[in-house]
Amino acid sequence: MDAATMTKPAVLILLGPPGAGKGTQARMLEEKFGLVQLSTGDLLRAAVAASTEAGKAAKAVMEAGKLVSDEIVVNILRDRLAQPDCARGVILDGFPRTTVQAGALDALLAESGQGINAAINLEVDDAAMVTRISGRFTCGDCGEGYHDTFKAPVVAGTCDKCGSTNMKRRADDNAETVASRLVAYHEQTAPLIAYYKARDVLKSIDAMGDIDTIAADLAAIVKQATA
Ligand SMILES: [Zn+2]
Repeated sequence: MDAATMTKPAVLILLGPPGAGKGTQARMLEEKFGLVQLSTGDLLRAAVAASTEAGKAAKAVMEAGKLVSDEIVVNILRDRLAQPDCARGVILDGFPRTTVQAGALDALLAESGQGINAAINLEVDDAAMVTRISGRFTCGDCGEGYHDTFKAPVVAGTCDKCGSTNMKRRADDNAETVASRLVAYHEQTAPLIAYYKARDVLKSIDAMGDIDTIAADLAAIVKQATA
């Protein structure tokens, strides 16, 4: 393809705490817009498996038990963005994690005269999130999902579907753990949110509504940001 006629891949960043439905929404964007979701872990694994230069560098660092530097991650990302399946654009998940990384990403995109199309922040109400996540449990036998507040079984402790009383809760879904996860998340992302706001690419979505409404809001932003 001629470089002059080549459209640059859209670059979107999705920010949202665990439990905000980021994975579901990213898959929707992949299907609807032909974007590719890139998480740092997947990027590293693929580059190591493909034995690219950056992949080899990452492997050596990881084998020494050290953290992969921002420079290596950026090099891996540069290679990945050039691959044909990313032609429409990518959704970055988990990178950048700091404003230093955000600056490195901007520098990478600037090499091809580009910038971030949008950093989309999935906004949640922390107290409501704690209720939502910490109330979840599932039937250990048939897998049916329940919730203390929103979907309690007709007979307490008994599965509506199969009659089992073998209900299971994930240990890390208790209120204290969820609350502390959210605090850590906000501490980590607040500088990034400020960073992208200052560059006028921050978009926010109310992520407490139903999945379809969130998906529609998100699609509208992506459509505008990639137009
Ligand atoms: Zn059941």
